[in-house]
Amino acid sequence: MTGMDEKPKKHEQFQTPKGVHDILPEDHEYHTFIKKVVRHRARQAGFRRISTPMFEFTEVFKRSIGDTSDIVTKEMYTFQDRKGRSLTLKPECTAGVVRAYIQNNMNQLPQPMMLYYYEPCFRYDRPQKGRYRQFWQFGFEILGESDPALDAQLIQMAFKICQDLGVDKLISLQINTIGTPEARKKYMQVLQDFYVGKERSLCEECKIRLKKNPMRLLDCKEEDCQILAGLAPVMRDYLDKESIEFHEEMKGYLDEIGIKYTENPKLVRGLDYYAKTVFEFWDKSEGAQNAIGGGGRYDGLMELMGGQPTPAVGFAAGVERIMANMKREKIRVPTKDDLHVFVAQLGKEAKRKCLPLIEQMRESGLKTMGAMGKGAINIQLKLADKFKAPFAVIIGITEVRENVAIIRDMKKGVQEKVAFEDVIDRLVELIGKKNLDKYSPGELLYS
Ligand code: AMP
Repeated sequence: MTGMDEKPKKHEQFQTPKGVHDILPEDHEYHTFIKKVVRHRARQAGFRRISTPMFEFTEVFKRSIGDTSDIVTKEMYTFQDRKGRSLTLKPECTAGVVRAYIQNNMNQLPQPMMLYYYEPCFRYDRPQKGRYRQFWQFGFEILGESDPALDAQLIQMAFKICQDLGVDKLISLQINTIGTPEARKKYMQVLQDFYVGKERSLCEECKIRLKKNPMRLLDCKEEDCQILAGLAPVMRDYLDKESIEFHEEMKGYLDEIGIKYTENPKLVRGLDYYAKTVFEFWDKSEGAQNAIGGGGRYDGLMELMGGQPTPAVGFAAGVERIMANMKREKIRVPTKDDLHVFVAQLGKEAKRKCLPLIEQMRESGLKTMGAMGKGAINIQLKLADKFKAPFAVIIGITEVRENVAIIRDMKKGVQEKVAFEDVIDRLVELIGKKNLDKYSPGELLYS
């Protein structure tokens, strides 16, 4: 289908463009839970949240991610604003964080700077399972210090989050070192020499990669390319001593904290800015195809972006892919969206009486809906059932006159008459004090 075909015709119902989705309330339950887990683990380790703009000058991504990467060559949403400046929707978050670190002089703050984010990203990928054009990433960046213990702690943190979300058993941690850019340059030449005369066996993409970014030949998913990659000279033999030692030290720390990993000498990651440590969390059943997250060290990026030389390491995970794994495992997340009470009433008089009651019920921690529409009581009770309210309060014309209300247990189908001023106490008793929703962030401002 062409872009033109996707345009809605006049009077036709609108649909979202390909590859983007609404987050409906059921999925927000997952988002909320994942965000809470991320926030908790971040706070435990001293990370603070950052958000960078949804779009940046295109150059921010081009320079950091690299001209030869898949993202820059074919996946960016780039557009011109009204003054003709080239802007791009963020395809990932590290570039923006590094730009923000430099722009806001964060190097003046105590180092390392530990930041985390939970943001939407945009990539013009071919939409398919686990691959969307708008998707959410959470991630962590540690800037301003170079220590393999930090790389290990970051990996541990990512792993802990997977554990909290119940997906740790489904993933395998792949690690590698890709050395410094200088050492890599040497290896890339060796790699290009190895492929001389073998170009015909490569897929179309790899033919281009060979000229522009030969390291990416190592992680191509095509069978023929994989066979050749298996015969290619091994990167580790060409790397600098410092990177190898750094890697060995990091592995020692991972062993110490009991994190299991697979050494994968072919793991290179798609983005140019990595150096030394790279890692990915692979789906055990699908391998690299649907990695749920990955990251690595990017010591040279800050300088490349115009800042002072500053070592850094980061990690990002895809929320939709984690959610898909959680659903596949039938993991239900706790939610606080369930209703306690539905108030059904008949007549204007009853409605007037209901409104202050509903307000008081909510203030007491009872999650309450009601006083809506003009339907008969039995229609409103059906609605209470549909909204899954365990209790209904019924106030009709007689109840108003007698100053009472009826409380109906929706599951048991039994009901009791209660004096109007006792309604809340009785409901609290029925719902249970520990189940009340007393969370009121606004109050914190005044306490
Ligand atoms: P990357 O930096 O490209 O490895 O992306 C980090 C994580 O974001 C991946 O491991 C995926 O979980 C997720 N991700 C990347 N691209 C997409 C996409 N197009 N749709 C959904 N999730 C994605």
